[in-house]
Amino acid sequence: MVCNKCGNKMIIRYGKYGFFGSCSNYPNCKNNIKLSEFMYEILKKEQLNIYSWKKECWKCHKLVPVYTYMIGKQMVPYMQQTYQIGNIGLGSIKKIDNYLIKNFPSINDNYSKTLSKTYASNNCIYCGALQGNNFVVDDPHEIYDDWLSGGMDKYIVKKIDINDIGLTENDLEGNQNNIVQIC
Ligand SMILES: [Zn+2]
Ligand SMILES: [Zn+2]
Repeated sequence: MVCNKCGNKMIIRYGKYGFFGSCSNYPNCKNNIKLSEFMYEILKKEQLNIYSWKKECWKCHKLVPVYTYMIGKQMVPYMQQTYQIGNIGLGSIKKIDNYLIKNFPSINDNYSKTLSKTYASNNCIYCGALQGNNFVVDDPHEIYDDWLSGGMDKYIVKKIDINDIGLTENDLEGNQNNIVQIC
C-alpha cells in the first residue's frame, strides 16, 4: 500500500495505542491510518488466505487436517519483525467463520466447556473430537517454526475474495492490541 500523502510505502508500526498503519517515511511524513483500515486494504488486494496442515488429534492420535485463517500472519511482510499481530484466526470473525463452516466439512460451531460458549473450530475427521483453536490459531505446535517466522505460504489451500463474504473494515476492528512478541 502506498502513502496517499507522499507516495512512500505504508507499513505497520507498534506504538502506545497498539498497532497502526504508518508511512515508512516517518518522521518526515506523519500520515497514519487505523490497523483495521490497513488490514482491509491488504486483504482486498491479496485476498484472505486459508491455511491447512496436519495436526495430531489429541484423542485418536491420527494426523488430521485443520483449517484456519491467520490475518496477523498475512501482515508479516508489512511490519517490523520484533512484533506480530496475534490470534486473528478461526473463531475471531463471524462472517469468515460462517463461510468456513459452510464450505469446510471439518469446521463446525462447537461448544467449548472451558470458554462456556459456541465458536467455530475444527473436528477430527475420524473420531469427531474438537481440535481447540488454542493449538490451531494461537500456538500451532506442528508448524511452529514456520508460524513464528511468517513462512506460512506453503500451507495456503484457498484464497477468498473478501467481497464475496461481505467483509468490511468494521469486521476487522479491535485487534490493534493483539500482540505476539518475536524474540
Ligand atoms: Zn507518507
Ligand atoms: Zn481423532
